[in-house]
Amino acid sequence: MTRTAFLTLVMAMAFPAIAQDLAPEMSPKPRLNQNRVSITDAGNVVIPPEKKADPKSVIETEDDAEKTGMRDQLRETDADYKACLMRLDQMGVVYSEAEPLISEDDADCGILRPLMVSEVGPGVAIQPPAMLRCETAQAVATWMKDFVLPASERLSERGAMTSIENGSGYICRRRNNLPDAKLSEHAFGNAFDVMGFQFKDGSRIAIEPREAEGSMAEAFQDAVRGSACLDFSTVLGPGSNASHDDHLHLDVIARPSGYRLCEQSGVSPN
Ligand SMILES: [Zn+2]
Repeated sequence: MTRTAFLTLVMAMAFPAIAQDLAPEMSPKPRLNQNRVSITDAGNVVIPPEKKADPKSVIETEDDAEKTGMRDQLRETDADYKACLMRLDQMGVVYSEAEPLISEDDADCGILRPLMVSEVGPGVAIQPPAMLRCETAQAVATWMKDFVLPASERLSERGAMTSIENGSGYICRRRNNLPDAKLSEHAFGNAFDVMGFQFKDGSRIAIEPREAEGSMAEAFQDAVRGSACLDFSTVLGPGSNASHDDHLHLDVIARPSGYRLCEQSGVSPN
């Protein structure tokens, strides 16, 4: 075992929760080796491809061994990746391709072909820009185009929708910030959290618990939450649990038989 690997083991044992963040994923920045990585404006860690962590240098528990490889399993083929970028272009998504993301906090975190997405459609920004896998960006853009923007037209007194508020894109953390939980889909670029929506008149609709308040904001929130399950395989929000009271969690995890976990207005299917 190298000295680095030994230190990694000691740190992992002493601080098992060190890679966690706080709901809703507004985390402190991960620990960095400043000689090897850079940080994006969104707080993401970028490591040059030639500096990827050696998986053998990271201690593996039985549980970790099962998960190791998810980041790599999610790498798109060249053809699929090009097709995905083309669909983003067709929908007017504004993005830039970023260097591969490999976290030093966990051997399996990261995105091999990350996109920094700044607009999800013509004139609709992501604030702040989000780091996502292409498939996730495509799901966000499709949902916006087919459901969110048409629904927003019912709120015509607010003017056009100008932005969607990003609670979290990529971040290396575990589910519900629990140290022994599985890695969150955010750790693979598969997930996007929506805090709210902004409109041309300066108003916003925040995602929040709405108990039959009888407002158009509630109708809009229910509409976008319900429609999200057509584009995402997981939809969580207010009522799911306390950590989701102020945002919608959307992800594109692939489950056996295509099962979708969509919790609507706090009604859990489980
Ligand atoms: Zn989330």
